[in-house]
Amino acid sequence: MEKKMQFNEAADEEWPICPHCRKELRELKHRKRGWLVTLTVFWCPHCRCLLSTSATFNG
Ligand SMILES: [Zn+2]
Repeated sequence: MEKKMQFNEAADEEWPICPHCRKELRELKHRKRGWLVTLTVFWCPHCRCLLSTSATFNG
């Protein structure tokens, strides 16, 4: 009874929408920091709400 999520490739004119300001996200702002661990933060270029963070180990 388990349903798997499907990944469909988006069309050229399909863009994600910011959950905060409801504008199309055609770009994401990001900033990286760190040497051993790279912390990346992504935010909406329109309202500057934080959308995601990720940590990558450089090793
Ligand atoms: Zn936004």
